Amino acid sequence: MTENTTPTREDLAREYDAVHNRLFLVQILMVAVLLAAYQLSGASAALADGLVKRFGESLWYLTNGVYVLVTVFGFAAFMFPLSYYTDYVLEHHYELSHEDFGMWLLDFTKSLLIDLVLAVILFEVVYALLRWQPVWWWVFATAFYILFAIIISTIAPVVIMPLFHKFEPLAEGDLTDAVKAMMEEAGIAVAGVFKSGLEENPGTANAAFTGFGKTRRIVLGDTLLAGYSQDEILAIIAHEVGHYKNRDMFRLMLTGSAMALVGFYVSHLCLTGLSGGLGRNIADIATAPVFIFSLFVFSLISMPFANMHSRRREYAADAYAVEKMGEPDSLVSAFVKLADQNLSNQEPAAWIEFLLHSQPSIARRIVRARENMSAIGSES
Ligand SMILES: [Zn+2]
Repeated sequence: MTENTTPTREDLAREYDAVHNRLFLVQILMVAVLLAAYQLSGASAALADGLVKRFGESLWYLTNGVYVLVTVFGFAAFMFPLSYYTDYVLEHHYELSHEDFGMWLLDFTKSLLIDLVLAVILFEVVYALLRWQPVWWWVFATAFYILFAIIISTIAPVVIMPLFHKFEPLAEGDLTDAVKAMMEEAGIAVAGVFKSGLEENPGTANAAFTGFGKTRRIVLGDTLLAGYSQDEILAIIAHEVGHYKNRDMFRLMLTGSAMALVGFYVSHLCLTGLSGGLGRNIADIATAPVFIFSLFVFSLISMPFANMHSRRREYAADAYAVEKMGEPDSLVSAFVKLADQNLSNQEPAAWIEFLLHSQPSIARRIVRARENMSAIGSES
């Protein structure tokens, strides 16, 4: 009991992970309770009816739009203390962010505005479909969802991401040349190699491909550029190239679309089953909490399966990186540094990983990376 009482970085990571798991549970319960209260208290119906009275039946899209704005804003207000605690207080407590409160609030406001815009677009379209195709709307909604996802990921790096971080082209040099050579060899056309300022959030070292088609680019976080060797950075980028080569974007889009189809169908069953009981038509925005609740529950149930798929794709991308680099050590040491910097629990409980994590744990990834190498070694 009298031994070393200073927690190690790994102790901190375990503690941070445990806090997050508990907060996730709190968040789920809060959302469920809020949605149920919103529907069952009659607040949702009162808002919808008030708006219909104001705008008239023919201007239903105005009613729907204002309903969504008020509802999303109201939920964000109720959830604000939790958001503040999770994204600001905890991040500062664990020294993963140095952002001051004003900056954080500004970022929070920007994300809320983006959420409001996206929610209005989604609900306007879905509720128009419910009105016109009350039997088959869920098929059309899935098609729209796919289109929407493609558009958002195409414009994100040029429209949304610059709202939060500064991006500038990476200066010419060995690293830029090596990255470009790697892209050329892999046959990937990119709009450039960029660095983004994350120095105010040191717990967010990353490298990623963002965008789609002509907007596809590589973004390296400042914090990654500072603390990692060139081989470590190249191994991380090779992992991203692995995703591209394995067509993971396409695979995720395909599984995402299948999930959306089933999810919308489940919400169709819930809406048709419950709207009547609430004295409403299924296209009436007053029963939107039923719609959201059913999608919410469906996404929780399907999450372990989506995560399992995602973790498999991560292992496959790691295998590509090991093969490209010709050795597992750069990737392994990059993983160790990333886990340390981002304070990720290297060995979460297997059942937690199964349920909640879209990324495999670092410890398992390291074991796999070394196995991949011995597999390559024994082939030659
Ligand atoms: Zn990945």
